Amino acid sequence: MHDSPIMIPQANPGAGYLAQKEAIDAAVQRALASGWYILGKEGEAFEQEFAAWLGATRAIGCANGTDALALILRGLGIGEGATVATVSHTAVATVAAIEMVGATPLLLDIDPDTYTMDPDELAAVLEDPPPGLPPLRAAIAVHLYGQACDLDPMLEACGRAGVALIEDCAQCHGATLHGRKLGTLGTAAAFSLYPTKNLGALGDGGVLATDDFELADRIAAIRQYGWKERYVSSLVGVNSRLDEIQAAILRVKLTALDAGNARRRAIAAAFDAALAGGPLAPPMRREDAEHVFHQYVLRGPRRAEVMARLKAQGIGTGIHYPVPVHLQPAYKGRVALGPAGCAETTRAAEEVFSLPIYPELSDAQVERICAALRGLAE
Ligand SMILES: *Cc1c(COP(=O)(O)O)cnc(C)c1O
Repeated sequence: MHDSPIMIPQANPGAGYLAQKEAIDAAVQRALASGWYILGKEGEAFEQEFAAWLGATRAIGCANGTDALALILRGLGIGEGATVATVSHTAVATVAAIEMVGATPLLLDIDPDTYTMDPDELAAVLEDPPPGLPPLRAAIAVHLYGQACDLDPMLEACGRAGVALIEDCAQCHGATLHGRKLGTLGTAAAFSLYPTKNLGALGDGGVLATDDFELADRIAAIRQYGWKERYVSSLVGVNSRLDEIQAAILRVKLTALDAGNARRRAIAAAFDAALAGGPLAPPMRREDAEHVFHQYVLRGPRRAEVMARLKAQGIGTGIHYPVPVHLQPAYKGRVALGPAGCAETTRAAEEVFSLPIYPELSDAQVERICAALRGLAE
């Protein structure tokens, strides 16, 4: 038997911890020693530092990215009796958040080159809503894999219809469109801080951002039992808080985010070069937008074979996402689809796969992946 090569995992959140171990350990010790574990100084400092980094007026920490979306919907008064349009080609969390607040999801198709919402279909359902659904009150734009949606026509269509555009920024911390950071362009934005995201806690976490002071105040109350003052629930609330230990860790991680994104882009450029002339095309980049490569996604008809060849060379791959939301057992036949019937979504789910891409990949590991990609052309 010959030795199999050491596996390069598709994701490796432990490497992100080790890269900043001393500073993270010190931050955890500080939070532990403070004697205050929920909604204290670390959380407040993280919210301020994140808002400043993003260029938003307010940031509010919460328990996870799903809750960040749900809190925005609740803050906008969107729940039962409202429809919210989004895509089926996303983490199921986007759709789960809509149903969590009692609203009805409407799932639209994607543009097959960028895997993000088809803005024409959004404009069509805003103008001519599908029969039998409650009124459309919001759209959730998912900036998938680290790249902006075709946001301009979506903002215009939502503005014309008077509905909110919420950005799902769970995969795009630091990405830009026309030089402006994603998460500052819609009514409000939700960020997941799950360990594998570009900004990841060492546990669950989420943060949302908005420039609307009143909305921010409502959401800050809703995240803790609807309290504006202790023990007085002025609004109907939930419990969705970011704890002090995660906040302290995230303050350290935030200092490495821009450099981490730059490293992801450099790795992506190396992959692009290795793919040149081969059977698989590099991922499409939107014009006047900066991609932060949460995932580096390729597409081809013989996916299983390509993934197996890479695995034999010690390269882990993943599929984001193998089954679109509208075909999942819990949603199939029950969830409303737009006029396109999510045909491109269904096709993409059968063909996409993701390479390892994270800042801690060594140059040697990147070169190993590039060599394997060059080998696909043979
Ligand atoms: C990760 C993710 C979420 C959910 O975040 P959690 O922190 O896991 O709740 C939502 N939307 C997208 C697009 C995601 O990738």
